[in-house]
Amino acid sequence: MSEAMISVNDLVKTYQMGEVTVEALRGVSFEIVPGEFVAIMGHSGSGKSTLMNVLGCLDTPTSGGYRLAGVDVEGLEETDLAHVRAVKLGFVFQQYNLLPKLSALRNVEMPLIYRGISHAKRRARAVAALKILGMGDRLDHRPKELSGGQQQRVVIARALAGSPSVILADEPTGALDSKTSDEIMGILGRLNRNQGLTVIVVTHEADVASYANRVLTLRDGKLVGDGPPPTHTVVQSKTAQTFPPCSRASRCCCESGSTSRRMAAKMTSQS
Ligand code: ADP
Ligand code: MG
Repeated sequence: MSEAMISVNDLVKTYQMGEVTVEALRGVSFEIVPGEFVAIMGHSGSGKSTLMNVLGCLDTPTSGGYRLAGVDVEGLEETDLAHVRAVKLGFVFQQYNLLPKLSALRNVEMPLIYRGISHAKRRARAVAALKILGMGDRLDHRPKELSGGQQQRVVIARALAGSPSVILADEPTGALDSKTSDEIMGILGRLNRNQGLTVIVVTHEADVASYANRVLTLRDGKLVGDGPPPTHTVVQSKTAQTFPPCSRASRCCCESGSTSRRMAAKMTSQS
């Protein structure tokens, strides 16, 4: 059995607001193996962003364990955490906005500068990532000269250019119309299938979650569901095909090799 990419054990996160204690996470445990595509769902205030911040090493839990790619994260100092973030994780968070005065290319290059990667290498990596995202002809455009969907492609290219093991996306389609949202989720699905990236997406939309192989559901800071998404909807231009739910408990029929998985891959690669 492959070692878990992410393993959280009894995570608790409380916020003290004056007299009031908010229990944002109340004992959450799960494992995610390399190459999974996981959606985290739940109502507003259920703890999704808090959990993503912990998974992203952006915040520390009040108690509980977190192992990322075999490293015990809770024992690390800030400098080591920053290193883990830069090397292992790619962020597609709404608050990680693009820098408005920089071109798409410079935005994608920026995190690589902080990692000390040489100019030639970072330029090559940034161009390659933007090309994968279909943005090869928009390298010199600034964010305001791009559509919302194109800006989100640049954000994903920036995450990808760091060669992460895991992409963490918090409501990546929250500001997009449904067609563009399908495009962005299709891209994340292809990165998961073709490059073996582990992808974790927070969403409150069932359509978005249907791209994942597994859905973790939070309610009031607790994990109340762990299973396949209700349906898999693969959008090909204007037509959509829905696959029935999988009867298996935690891993879905779209695992590599199954018929519906191959159909899904074929259809998304054509779109
Ligand atoms: P979601 O992303 O599912 O909407 P959050 O993780 O943002 O939920 O929030 C979970 C709970 O924790 C909410 O009750 C929220 O008000 C509270 N919370 C989140 N961040 C903070 C914070 N920095 N300080 C105090 N309370 C917070
Ligand atoms: Mg949130």
